Amino acid sequence: MTINFDYEKCIKCKKCYELCPLDIITWENDVPKIKYPNECQICFICQAECPTKAIKLKIPIAFW
Ligand code: SF4
Ligand code: SF4
Repeated sequence: MTINFDYEKCIKCKKCYELCPLDIITWENDVPKIKYPNECQICFICQAECPTKAIKLKIPIAFW
């Protein structure tokens, strides 16, 4: 499971950081970072709510 941020698109609104129900996303040096990638439940909230589509979840095929 990987979560990629496109920092050129990110407008630092903190929505992903505030909305992740599991606190997977942390806020460091004024940008969002993934803290616990293996605990992500792939709820897609961060990707869906990012206003600039700066987040892309990559799900391993084996997960399905
Ligand atoms: S929701 Fe998107 S634009 Fe907002 S801080 Fe997160 S990555 Fe950046
Ligand atoms: S997909 Fe859900 S659990 Fe995973 S980082 Fe995004 S908001 Fe958090």
